[in-house]
Parts: sequence; structure tokens; C-alpha cells
Amino acid sequence: MDYKNDIGYRKETLKKLLYTIQQSEDLIVKALYDDFKKPEFEAVLTETSYVISELKDTIKNINKWAKRKRVMPSLLNFPSTDYIYKEPYGNVLVISPWNYPFQLALCPLISAVAAGNKVVLKPSELTAHTSAIIKKIIEKTFHVNHVEVLEGGIEVSNKLLLQRWDYIFFTGSVAVGKIVAKAAAENLTPVTLELGGKNPCIVDETVNLELAAKRIIWGKFINAGQTCIAPDYILIQKKIKIPFVNFLIQEINNAYGKKPIKSPDFTRIINTKNWLRLVSMIEQEKVIFGGETDANELFISPTLLEEPDLDSPVMNEEIFGPVLPILTYETETDIHNVISRFEKPLAFYVFSDNSHFAEKLIKNYSFGGGCINDTVVHFSNKRLPFGGVGHSGIGAYHGQLSFDLFSHHKGVVKKGNWLDLPMRYAPYKNKLANIRKFLNWM
Ligand code: NAD
Repeated sequence: MDYKNDIGYRKETLKKLLYTIQQSEDLIVKALYDDFKKPEFEAVLTETSYVISELKDTIKNINKWAKRKRVMPSLLNFPSTDYIYKEPYGNVLVISPWNYPFQLALCPLISAVAAGNKVVLKPSELTAHTSAIIKKIIEKTFHVNHVEVLEGGIEVSNKLLLQRWDYIFFTGSVAVGKIVAKAAAENLTPVTLELGGKNPCIVDETVNLELAAKRIIWGKFINAGQTCIAPDYILIQKKIKIPFVNFLIQEINNAYGKKPIKSPDFTRIINTKNWLRLVSMIEQEKVIFGGETDANELFISPTLLEEPDLDSPVMNEEIFGPVLPILTYETETDIHNVISRFEKPLAFYVFSDNSHFAEKLIKNYSFGGGCINDTVVHFSNKRLPFGGVGHSGIGAYHGQLSFDLFSHHKGVVKKGNWLDLPMRYAPYKNKLANIRKFLNWM
């Protein structure tokens, strides 16, 4: 079991993992439904098939990604050949959240294994059915000294964080991200923090409003708004607010029907604590549409809020639920006055056919990643880095970037012995002018 040095072994275990996941897909989908009624379609699209595709891509490319890479040498070292070696960090801790509990646990795990690490995964205690099936799959696939799943809540997390790790990959809230970063700092352990934030969605008058509404409603209400990159609030140009809100309502009705509680396509809120938090946000605001709730079902219907005060609770924390405030703007200064109140968001969306305006916003604001004229879909391209900036996170992953993230990159110069230029050696007398000339010339 030489997972550190034997790439063939890593590949075999990943193939075994792929097989086990494919065989267990129905059980995973059921677990996700049992945890918070995630619809089968969303479970397959955003969890199982996403992980399967990540696994296939990793298995296909692992040899190429793991290979030492030759780079142009520096003339200063002539004659030499220079390489980057990718080395596993060692022991990796992955702590994952509940909202996409399969995908956000498995994807970092897959890359950490591919890069040759030993992994301990602590999935979220709030999605117990999914955590249990993850544990079973991992136990079936890996030796316990290679990959292990430890279930449990904060106590388990805290115990793990007291240990020394070579890398910590955390996905979750900003508040817990800070706890993880502090614990990691004790041992100078490198971290990736995949966090959240308040993601703006700006809509101007140049777009096809119906299409924009359809794409925003999908990105906001998939997983009942419990998505780290869901649009958090809309900033719409004032003069088109009324027709746009009508399109939003039309799209909610098209997607979830007149009684969303009866829709098989609408996820529930994860627990009573979050349900109460969201209901309290709604109660303090003017509801334009929706606002139906059911405590027994942990249900909140897709809800649109009319221009909340910027100091209200709904505008002061990440919403993370099916509640969408509609704010308006007239000038670019109005846009700036809202966005600049918040920390750098994880995602940023602009709907505009005015490419100059869209480009300006994309360049002016700092954010993890985003889309022009769509929401959420930047997540699906493995060639794009996925991660936050500032309070929305540290580091980025997906595709080859994930493999590189879990590898230390060692730069090595292999020096030729057939020539040894004397310039650098002491005594330095009479050598400075020549070395200056050489450095200027380079
Ligand atoms: P969370 O921070 O409460 O929990 C995440 C993990 O940390 C869980 O495994 C949990 O058991 C553990 N944990 C909780 N409290 C802890 C503590 N005090 N000490 C140590 N460990 C602790 O987050 P969550 O509620 O599971 O997820 C929602 C948050 O995650 C949102 O803010 C969302 O934006 C963010 N998120 C980010 C991404 C991303 O990719 N950037 C993806 C999904 C979710």
C-alpha cells in the first residue's frame, strides 16, 4: 500500500471508488432525500454525477498531473535542467458541510488521494444519512490507514483540529473558517478555506428580462437557496423593476407550481435552527411573493422581499435559504454603495447585454468567481478555479488545480558538471562589473 510513491496504486483505489459509487448511486440519492428531501434530479446533477465525472477526469489524467514537469532553466545556473516535482503533503484533514454533503466531501478527498496523501474526512453531522453512506463507501474502498471517515459534530472537529496535519481543507461558514485557520496556524499547517458570503446579482435594462429571471430563479432556488454561490440579493435597475419582478414570479410558478410545498422538486431547510432564522428574516420584511412556511415540513416557499433596509438582518448575513431580496439602483454609485458594504463575495453575477458595463463590474469588484448572464454554472467547468477571496475563502480547486493544491511543488535544479563558470565564487575582486553586465543583459 504505497500510496505516497505508487501512482498505479492510487489509480487503482480511485477506480475502486468509482465502481463503489456507481454501484451505490441509488442509496446516495435516497440518503440525500432522507436528509432534506433533495430531489433526485438535483442529487444526480449536483452530487453523484459531479463526483463521478471528477473521478473519471482524475483517473484519466493522474499520470500526467503527477509527472515531474521540466521548466526553462535560468541562465544564471548554466548548464542545468530544472524540474518541478509534485510531492504529497502527507496527512490531510477534510472537513465538509451539509448543503452538498456528498460532493463537497468527496471531491477534495478524491484529489487528496490522487496526489498521494493519507486522508481523514469529517463530514457534516447535519446530514447523517449521507455521512453514513459516505463512511460505508470509503470503508469498502480504502484501507483504514489510507482514508478514514470520522463522523460527528463540533467535538469531533475540535479534537481533529488539535492534532497536527500537513494540510487542512475546510468547506463551511466564515465563523468556523476562522476557528480552523487559528488551529492550523498553531502548526503552520497550510489551509484551503472554502467559505461563503453575500453574492450580488445585478440586472440592467439591456437584457432579456424573462431569460434573466429564469436563470436567476434556477440558481437561487436549487437546493432551496442553500448553495454557497446562490445569488444572495438582486440589484435591479429601478425603471424595470416591476416587469422583472413579474417575470421572477412567473418563473417561480413555472418551476414549482402554485403550491411549492407539493412540488417534488423543492428541497427542505436543513434543520429547525436554520428554518427559524430564515422565518424571522422574512417576518421583519415586506413580502412581494411567497413567504409560506411549514415548521413540521421545515418548508419555506420561494420568497421575494421588497427593498429591505440595508441594516436589516436579511441584508447583514448570508441568507442561505429560499429568500431573495429585490433592491433597486439608478446609478453605478448606488450599486457601489450596496456592494461595498459587504466583504468580498464568493460569487458575483451581472445580467447585461452591455458588455462594457458587465466587464467594468467584473473588473471593479473582487469576488471568488461568477457569471455574466447566468448564475451558479461557473462551478461546472473543471478548467475554472473555484474558491473565494478575502472572507469568502483562501485557495481554489477543481480539476487539475485540486491535484496541484494537495501537492507540494518542489523546485529542483539538476546541474551539469561539464562546465563550472567561475563568476560567482569568492574572492569577488574585479568580478562585480562583469556580474552587473551579465545581470543587465539577462
Ligand atoms: P459550518 O461552518 O457550520 O460547518 C462546516 C463543518 O464544520 C461541519 O463539518 C461542522 O461539523 C464543522 N463545525 C461546525 N462548527 C464547528 C466548530 N465550532 N469548530 C469546529 N468545527 C465545526 O457550515 P455549514 O452550516 O455546514 O455550511 C454552510 C456554510 O458553508 C455557508 O456559509 C456556505 O456559504 C458555506 N459553504 C461554502 C462552500 C464553498 O465551496 N465555498 C460550499 C458549501 C458551503
